[in-house]
Amino acid sequence: MKKFKTESKKLLDLMINSIYTNKEIFLRELISNASDAVDKLYFKSLTDTSVAISKDDLSINVAFDKDARTITVSDTGLGMTKDELETNLGTIAHSGSLDFKTENADQQGEDVDIIGQFGVGFYSAFMVAKHVKVVSRAYGSDEAYQWESDGIEGYTVTACEKASHGTDVILTLKDNTEEDHYDLFLDEHELKALIKRYSNYVRYPIKMECSVTRQKPKPEDAGDDWKPEYETVQEIQTINSMIPIWKRHKSEVTDEEYNEFYKSDFHDFSDPLRTITVHAEGTLSYDALMFIPSHAPFDLYSKDYKKGLALYSSNVLIMEKCEELLPDYYNFVRGVVDSQDLTLNISRETLQHNSQLHAIANKLEKKIRSELVKMRDNERETYEKFFENFGRGLKYGIYSSYGMDRDKLADLLLFYSAKQEKMITLDEYLEAAPEDQKAIYYAAGDTTDRLVQTPIVKSVLAKGYDVLLCTEDVDEFCMTSMHEYGYNEEGKNGKELKNIAGGDLGLETEDEKSAAESITKDNEALFTTMKEALGDKVLRVAVSARLTDAPACIVAEGPISLEMERVLAMGPGGDQVKADRVLEINANHDIFKTLQKAQEEGNTEKIKQYTTILYDQSLLVEGLPIEDPAAYAEAVCSLMK
Ligand code: ADP
Repeated sequence: MKKFKTESKKLLDLMINSIYTNKEIFLRELISNASDAVDKLYFKSLTDTSVAISKDDLSINVAFDKDARTITVSDTGLGMTKDELETNLGTIAHSGSLDFKTENADQQGEDVDIIGQFGVGFYSAFMVAKHVKVVSRAYGSDEAYQWESDGIEGYTVTACEKASHGTDVILTLKDNTEEDHYDLFLDEHELKALIKRYSNYVRYPIKMECSVTRQKPKPEDAGDDWKPEYETVQEIQTINSMIPIWKRHKSEVTDEEYNEFYKSDFHDFSDPLRTITVHAEGTLSYDALMFIPSHAPFDLYSKDYKKGLALYSSNVLIMEKCEELLPDYYNFVRGVVDSQDLTLNISRETLQHNSQLHAIANKLEKKIRSELVKMRDNERETYEKFFENFGRGLKYGIYSSYGMDRDKLADLLLFYSAKQEKMITLDEYLEAAPEDQKAIYYAAGDTTDRLVQTPIVKSVLAKGYDVLLCTEDVDEFCMTSMHEYGYNEEGKNGKELKNIAGGDLGLETEDEKSAAESITKDNEALFTTMKEALGDKVLRVAVSARLTDAPACIVAEGPISLEMERVLAMGPGGDQVKADRVLEINANHDIFKTLQKAQEEGNTEKIKQYTTILYDQSLLVEGLPIEDPAAYAEAVCSLMK
């Protein structure tokens, strides 16, 4: 017997024993695997002339045997070779996914979405089965193999017989316990109901042998007193409706049906946050059904994630994920587009230049945007949930287009307002801003809690201006790419987006400015000594026009902020990029007086010691690392003696 990998074992155990309580979905998972396998073979027959398959030969069959306690899901699909049985069914999920899952299992409670997220659908069979046998013959091969497993420990693969290509998955159900009656599934009505509920739109017929009661034919010699007699016979029926849900009008479909379609086709265990339907007729006809998921898939921000909508031409799948249909910033949207105007033998290369496809993509983008705008304006709580999951992608969209896409995205963004203590849009920021306010102020750091405590944020708030607190890595890059934001009516420019931790904020009055200048001049010698103490670490030491309570702060001059420096340092070669730092001193603070006194007394040592401490302290307040923590601790201790 081959053993499952350790992480697979852990995951399997977690899944079977605790995580998902809704055991009945195993059937949906097996049927959707079967349907994928049939799709693959059909698709092959379209592109490869040596594969002669007629659509009528393709079907899925469900059967059960009460005595043997088995349920069998068979398909006439592509099948699996011996190697494929091993690789596809022998490894469950990558350990990375497992870490993510186990970490999150506690927080998310029982109905954690484990199966759909990690492509472990097949293993859901073990929620109800004590033994699983998969008999498969790959298309074009005359060998068949069977994979067998009792769950946790491992599996075996052996040669076997199978008359034609395709796969049979045979589950031997677990014994009943007090809580779980697995026998329930060995019932025609139950299985039919499950197929209808979860797999109604599967494109291939799902067939099952059903008992039907029908009237016996009237015997020719029946007398006048003949009464109809009934008999029960076994008959193969197609259980699913197969009519693509995206072709039906919205008014004919219930939310429940849309949700079930979404969950079964896109392997998600939660309902979507939004369902978007489009039926276009005219020069370009198409039907689209799109969903905004209610949570981000675990790999959304990894490079393995593939965006795209499934593309059909007259109900036939052309491509699983057609990237061209979605811009990167809407990569989270799942769905289906079906257009009879597209030709079937469309290839990847021709797709990129296909103007009809571009036209559809444009329309869909506008539709998605208008749904988001509606949600933002009418259902704020839902929108905030959406933004929490997918906002990062929208911001990245602005950054990666160097601001070119900002008109399509900026008004969809939300940021945390320090003043209103909630998420607000940039428009809401502007509406609440006093008339004389010159710019939109923001500050960047790791948490909002820390940011509101920083002297710079406090001082801007004290002046009556709100500050947007940016805590995501992409935020500042997005803000810098946007550059400005505002109502652009009558040629009026928007307001500049300004990081308050750098450059001249222009918040001080003329009087304050000239006072600061004269203090700087009067204390030139002191500032020179302070600058000497810090050497290359800072560009200069100056009087601050932005501080109220704190004795000092560090600001960055030029395009790179301290937060950007921190974010960039995490990337390759990023530690080369440094912000130009300025140590700003609060001239109204007692510590400044102490420094002035030391200068009068000619106590250079003291000035140098105080300056280094002030510098390190300012970094700590900003949540930035200090170069030599030991030296800092020693310096503070020496003051305590
Ligand atoms: P997913 O379907 O999400 O990829 P599963 O754990 O359900 O993950 O299945 C793993 C793989 O096993 C599938 O990707 C597919 O390659 C293969 N497989 C499962 N069932 C079948 C089947 N009935 N026919 C052919 N291949 C199958």
